[in-house]
Amino acid sequence: MTAYRISRRRLFVSAGAGVLGLAVVNTVSACSTSSPPSRPVPTAGGSQPSAEPLPTSTALPTGWNRVNLSYVSAYLLLRGKEVAIVDTGTPGSESAIEDGLKAAGSGWSAVKHVILTHYHDDHIGGLSGIEPQVKATFYAGSVDLGNIISDKPLKPLNEGDEVFGLRIVDTPGHTRGHISIFEPGTGTLVAGDALRTQNGLESSDPQYTTDQKLATASVKKLAGLDIKAILPGHGEPLTAGAKEALQKLAASL
Ligand SMILES: [Zn+2]
Repeated sequence: MTAYRISRRRLFVSAGAGVLGLAVVNTVSACSTSSPPSRPVPTAGGSQPSAEPLPTSTALPTGWNRVNLSYVSAYLLLRGKEVAIVDTGTPGSESAIEDGLKAAGSGWSAVKHVILTHYHDDHIGGLSGIEPQVKATFYAGSVDLGNIISDKPLKPLNEGDEVFGLRIVDTPGHTRGHISIFEPGTGTLVAGDALRTQNGLESSDPQYTTDQKLATASVKKLAGLDIKAILPGHGEPLTAGAKEALQKLAASL
């Protein structure tokens, strides 16, 4: 178990062009199932809400926002007036996610999909707090489904499934049912814990990886995608040279 510390308490919101609206609840340590920190409280200092209005079209990506908390990452993918949440952070993260929605000019009512990359507590911890807030479909990788306690039914996802224009990519290894979310139109990959970037781009942390061989195979698989941005569960988004970095990593494994 890892005793992690909260190193970031500010709410950061940034925007990237050509990608889905995206908010990241981010923390700095590796994935762990140990007891979570108390809910980080966003402060005004780091907040920089996007000034761009949401488009009226629901067909096109709109850019992405990042909400950076501490320890782990959750994502709010905005398309038109609808939102998909990818991962829910540690328990109590729902308030920060709500802040991220507001910063993007959205709110709980826009959330139509909640996708969990895998069953670890720091990715599903906010689920119980989000469930009462939204009328959404909840999803997880079919193999991890049984490890997730949810008040709402969870819809199983498998390789090639499509949700909200997002393609599901099976990336087992970190957990056996780990999935990543790929947005083909923009080359954006929400990588869960299949990749991390705290110390440059790396594969799943061996300390928390169920099957390292599978995790390595998943990295090599991801390297075959036309990726322009990697949005990991732990660490900073990689938005420049992502494909090259991933191919280099894959070749080194
Ligand atoms: Zn994990």
